[in-house]
Amino acid sequence: AYVIGLPCVDIKDRSCIDECPVDCIYEGRRALYIHPEECVDCGACEPVCPVDAIYFADDLPEEWGDDHAASNADFFAA
Ligand code: SF4
Repeated sequence: AYVIGLPCVDIKDRSCIDECPVDCIYEGRRALYIHPEECVDCGACEPVCPVDAIYFADDLPEEWGDDHAASNADFFAA
């Protein structure tokens, strides 16, 4: 699945939501989140993000690791 990383926090531009063909991008408290089981890996959301927050999960910058896990917890609590 694709994931939305730290640059989205407090930005929530929402351009990606309009691109997703399966509507699997949701709004959390501080960032948008991609549901990992609903994402079909089409990649349509990645180029439209104005802050380059979207990556294929395996390509997520390592330095975002812990914070990304924290933001996922935020998603499931939201
Ligand atoms: Fe939606 Fe495709 Fe982005 Fe997955 S990769 S979140 S299916 S637009």
